[in-house]
Order: sequence, then structure tokens, then C-alpha cells
Amino acid sequence: MSLEIFTHSWKTFEVLQIPAFDDNYLYLIVDSGSAWAVDPGDGPIIDSVLTQKNLKLKGILNTHHHSDHVGGNAFLAEKWQCPVYAHPKDQARIPAFTHPVQEGLTLELGNLKVQVLDVPGHTLNHVAYGLAEPQWLFCGDTLFPCGCGRLFEGTPQQMYGSLKKLRQLPGETLVFCAHEYTLSNLRFALQEFPDDTLLKRLQMEMTEKKQRTSCTIPTTLQMEKDANPFLRWDDPKIRKALEMSDAEDWQVFAEIRKRRDHF
Ligand code: ZN
Ligand code: FE
Repeated sequence: MSLEIFTHSWKTFEVLQIPAFDDNYLYLIVDSGSAWAVDPGDGPIIDSVLTQKNLKLKGILNTHHHSDHVGGNAFLAEKWQCPVYAHPKDQARIPAFTHPVQEGLTLELGNLKVQVLDVPGHTLNHVAYGLAEPQWLFCGDTLFPCGCGRLFEGTPQQMYGSLKKLRQLPGETLVFCAHEYTLSNLRFALQEFPDDTLLKRLQMEMTEKKQRTSCTIPTTLQMEKDANPFLRWDDPKIRKALEMSDAEDWQVFAEIRKRRDHF
């Protein structure tokens, strides 16, 4: 069986985007024969890509502890004797954990500099990994095209703070998230905001793209700032539709998240 892999290049760097399970994406960040895995939920799939591409695994970056993100940690860390980076408070629930990372830390992975951002909400100790050059963001289950992660552990205020932090990154940033949820997110968004012309256009474009390539990821941060209802707490059109003109920003976010939970 040949595995479909999506490749994104910038200078000498590459992201390999590897579909797994029903709707996950696993990632390999590649530079000159070395690779770092982001959320390798399935060890054997990652290992077969490493073999196929003649790459050496140098490390594992986890955004959070859910099994679809850490399921391959033990197998890969054992085979490649590589470090596993994750938030220190998740040490007990991240298999093969070795290195703590949290906000403010810059990881040097070969020629790549990776900034760690704390983005609690989906889980309490969720982190995102942001590269400045190239502008790539690996945000796990925090931000999706026209959607955001479910609040399993954090509060709406925490998730709002995390999304606000991500929203401040440059618009050109490519957002590599961990699931293909785009079309259902758009169905929800258009149910709530049926007159939004950008969302209508995106639904047509993304439906076509999904049929043609089976993949709508990555998105750009600019597209999310413009279209994603979960980042538009201060957009007067969104507030008007929700009849929340005078609410706090986080309350607008919380209302949309609540409606999504019941969708
Ligand atoms: Zn998750
Ligand atoms: Fe997940």
C-alpha cells in the first residue's frame, strides 16, 4: 500500500504531512536528512516514511497527551533513541517523555529555531510549536480551519487567550493542525452565519479542494483571522448575528464554542 504524503517546501526545509487514522495528520519537519516528528500518533507509519525518504529521526515534539498524538512515541523513541519534548506538567501522561518545553523556550533543531507557545484549552498543558523562518505553526488541536479544538480540560477564557495569542502571529504563517475537520467546521459556521460571503466562498473552494486532493490543510493564519468565527470575537457582524454587541470578547468566543458543542 502506498501512503499518500503531502509535501511543503521552503528553501532546504520540508514538512511532510502524513494522513493517519480517520482524520489525523502527523508531521515530519525535515532538514538535510534529519527529521523531527510532530505528534506521531502512529509509530509504524512514521517509521515507514522515514525509511522511504531515507531520513533519521532526531526528536519528537508533542503538542498534548491525547493518544492520537502520542501513540507512536514509545516505539519511535526506542528505535531512534531520540528525545521527546512536551509540557513538563504532562510528563506522566506523555510516553517516553524526556525534555520539558514551555512558553518562552526556543528549541534549536538543527538549523531550525522553534518557539514554544502555551495554548491551554483543548487540554491544560497543550503547547504549539511556531517557526519564524519558515513561518510554520504546528498547533495540534487548538486551531483548525474555521474551527477550534474542543474544551476537554480548559475553560473558554483559557482557550480564548490561546487563540488570541495565535491570532497575533503573522498572517503569512502556514497553520499545520492535527485534524481534517474543515468541511464540518464550515457547515457549522454557515449554519450560524449564513450570510457570510467569505465563509460561503470558502465552503465552495474547500469542498472542491477536498474532492480533488483529499486534504485542505495547511491554512494560512490570515485566512483564519478573516474567516474563522472562533477568531472573530471582535467582528461586529459576528457580534450582531449572536446579539452580543456589548459582550466581552471571551464571551463571544464562549458562545460560539458552546453552539459548536451542540452542533
Ligand atoms: Zn486532542
Ligand atoms: Fe487530536
